[in-house]
Amino acid sequence: MIYLNGKFMPIEEAYIPVLDRGFIFGDGVYEVIPVYSRKPFRLTNHLNRLQHSLDGIRLRNPLSNEEWQNLLEQVIAKNEGEDQYLYLHITRGVAKRDHAFPANVPPTVFIMSNPLLPPPAELLVSGAAAITSSDNRWIRCDVKAISLLPNVLLRQLAVDVHALETILIRDGFLTEGAASNIFVVKDNVLLAPPKSHLMLPGITYDVVLELAAANRIPHEIREISEAEIRTADEILLTSSTKEIMPITSLDNKPVGNGKPGAMFTQLHALYQQYKATDMRGHPSGTASR
Ligand code: PMP
Repeated sequence: MIYLNGKFMPIEEAYIPVLDRGFIFGDGVYEVIPVYSRKPFRLTNHLNRLQHSLDGIRLRNPLSNEEWQNLLEQVIAKNEGEDQYLYLHITRGVAKRDHAFPANVPPTVFIMSNPLLPPPAELLVSGAAAITSSDNRWIRCDVKAISLLPNVLLRQLAVDVHALETILIRDGFLTEGAASNIFVVKDNVLLAPPKSHLMLPGITYDVVLELAAANRIPHEIREISEAEIRTADEILLTSSTKEIMPITSLDNKPVGNGKPGAMFTQLHALYQQYKATDMRGHPSGTASR
């Protein structure tokens, strides 16, 4: 069951008019929220990021955080599975095709849920392959816009060579993955690129850095050069649906010794522990409690 503009319905019955600005211009924003044991994970953080994306495209938030929470809980209840991921999508509505914002047009609001499956165990044991490419996206990558054509094309480069992700480099420095954030490990220090308009502020990225701080794992938030990516001891990928994954090959060369490393093992265990604590009903807050 999905939610579309005030109604719940089976996805097969959900349609939008062809003049929806999401269809015509890609004029909208979205969020992906993991749900564990029927409880949205880090909901406040996701709703805050949604607000940031809406502000970035100058679209008024149609709902309060309480209303979003209520609606998302209804979608979760109407779908099967303890673990789900919610996809939430808002566009600037339906109007005659014209680049200028339409006046007094209600936004289109769409929410769907899909089963959330953990990454395959064998990928956590062997690690995954990634490739690199130059980051040719716009420079508001902090906005989670539905216009994802560059991300789609960049991810496909990885798919074409049976790799998991394309790691993006802009002006000689790491930004992120086509649909993930990327960390590098060198000499037992976890390195993370600083948040900026050049990357999406990942919710999982935040959790990982909070876990590192709370557990005294040496870490630095700073620009990471292409040379540092290529000589990394470990590369880690994070996203809401993939959690934390080890990247053990980059452009067909082994990363470090080519096996998931100690930093991955520690952070993956801490992340699973944190998720479990969160599921037992503690309010979603910071990882350092
Ligand atoms: N960067 C991009 C471009 C993404 O699409 C995603 C996945 N939504 C992320 C980073 C990771 O963000 P999060 O941890 O919030 O899923």
